[in-house]
Amino acid sequence: YQKSDFPFSDQIVQNLKKIFHLNTFRLCQEGVINAAMDRRDIVCVMPTGGGKSLTYQLPAVMGNGLTVVISPLLALIWDQVRALKEIGIECVMMTGATSTSEQNEIYERMKAGATRYQKEIRLCYVTPEKVSKSKRLISTLEKVNEAGRLNEAHCCSQLGHDFRPDYKKLSMLKTLFPRVPIQAVTATLSSKTLPDLLKILRLGPITDGSSAKTTGTVFFSAPLFRPNLHYKVLSKPSNAKSAIAAMGDWIQKNHQDQSGIIYCLSKKDAETVAEELREWSGGNIKTGIYHAGVEDYEKERIHVRWREGKVNCICATIAFGLGIDKGDVRYMSKSLEGYYQETGRAGRDGQDSDCVLFYRGQDAARLSSLTYGDVDGSSKLQEMLRFAQDLKTCRKVAFAKYFSASAHLSASAWDAPDALSSSTGTTSTCGICDNCMRSPESIITKDVTVESWKIMKIAQFVQSEGGRVTLANLSDLVRGLGGGLFGVVGGGEGKKGKRRLNGEKERVDLEALGGKITLSKDDTEALLIHLVLLGYLADSYHATAYSVNVYIIASDTAVRLTR
Ligand code: ADP
Ligand code: ZN
Repeated sequence: YQKSDFPFSDQIVQNLKKIFHLNTFRLCQEGVINAAMDRRDIVCVMPTGGGKSLTYQLPAVMGNGLTVVISPLLALIWDQVRALKEIGIECVMMTGATSTSEQNEIYERMKAGATRYQKEIRLCYVTPEKVSKSKRLISTLEKVNEAGRLNEAHCCSQLGHDFRPDYKKLSMLKTLFPRVPIQAVTATLSSKTLPDLLKILRLGPITDGSSAKTTGTVFFSAPLFRPNLHYKVLSKPSNAKSAIAAMGDWIQKNHQDQSGIIYCLSKKDAETVAEELREWSGGNIKTGIYHAGVEDYEKERIHVRWREGKVNCICATIAFGLGIDKGDVRYMSKSLEGYYQETGRAGRDGQDSDCVLFYRGQDAARLSSLTYGDVDGSSKLQEMLRFAQDLKTCRKVAFAKYFSASAHLSASAWDAPDALSSSTGTTSTCGICDNCMRSPESIITKDVTVESWKIMKIAQFVQSEGGRVTLANLSDLVRGLGGGLFGVVGGGEGKKGKRRLNGEKERVDLEALGGKITLSKDDTEALLIHLVLLGYLADSYHATAYSVNVYIIASDTAVRLTR
């Protein structure tokens, strides 16, 4: 199917240009589309931002009839439906938010097909829940199928979204519609999860795509690492003003007048960063704000302004992803998965792009409150911190290691077009990330044994007094700031034999514990994070239990001794 002399090749290239206004295929797109046109069952693994959607959209508009796209991600559904409508393709979506009257209309249109009055729906996007719960959807699809107009079904899964739980009920598709081809597209699939996928979707055994004559499911994969993405971590000054200046400087030096996205931690951050960057640059950096709280019409407007170049730097929370073709700026992310996914939005045109993580140890304290409630949140956050603090490991190697552990993805999947190789394999270094480019001599090291020892003494004291401190509190405390005060948790008896209240303050006698440390604020924060990562200090999470009379903000990180 990869050969360009495949019977459909001319036709698909024509449509690629005419309908999608693109010139050439990427990665394994052409093979997948050829196989889809040949009505084969397909499994396709491509990185985020690799161009998976074209592999089902193009066949969908070329064939006759209806194509059903099943995706668990509403944002993805939204993005794609909007983008398709913009290029004049008839498509609809049906989610939990679709009103009954809209649904009625969609069902009628599906059944009717093309009429004198309206065009045929070519793509219908639905969530897996809709397929498993809506009898009406299934019975409508049955009618469409009887009329010979059910084209294909596509099941998409994103990184972090396993095929297993969401997709269990999709097994009925092959049973109900044995002759309708199924195409499964995903960014994560390993030799371990492939059998599950085949079983759930009731697909036949894998065959390779080299011959069009074989039977079974055709498998395609592309390397997960995109060599046009340059990963780097830059340190963010602790002072908010200097942080903006550092970011602004970097943008203007490296990407003057180019487009970028800055992912921020909260809506409020997105707003502040947008405003301050604009001010700092005297309007040269044309910022826009995009997050879940922005009204739909305003989102619309930002899209238009972004495309017209009137806005070139979008400050967003993760919700932003609509129709973005270029992005070259990065900020802070909660987990390596999030980082990989968000950066997938950069350089979609194949051009070199920077994926920058502006990082500061102190962010960890805020991030940890964001991960509260997420069971693996804390270890995911630690992985992110480890990544950020690492000055030696190639970023691609770090991703490969992380994903081979968390998503059981073979490390070699990052290079080799064979995500199925069962060996854990290895991956080569990328040669273009900050750590690959850094000379070992440029790394400044400092012996902080004494400082660490002092920190441990102080932390131990705080713990023995039943105190709780956040990373920021502890940083102040060890540097002799904040009057040496820390808050205690209520209960138990204090020094004077008095029952203590939540948030009551206790003082640390620094001189008795070896004296304060003289590192800068930034260095102290970095050292504290380092001690957490090494396991000398542990962070734990406290929420509502201390919401009365709290001294320490409830969901913040408390740092204490592990032993
Ligand atoms: P994925 O679903 O794999 O994360 P998408 O399908 O959303 O990625 O595609 C990412 C971007 O790449 C889109 O902006 C799309 O327009 C663009 N794209 C896809 N295929 C091509 C191609 N052959 N040439 C140029 N751009 C492409
Ligand atoms: Zn590298």
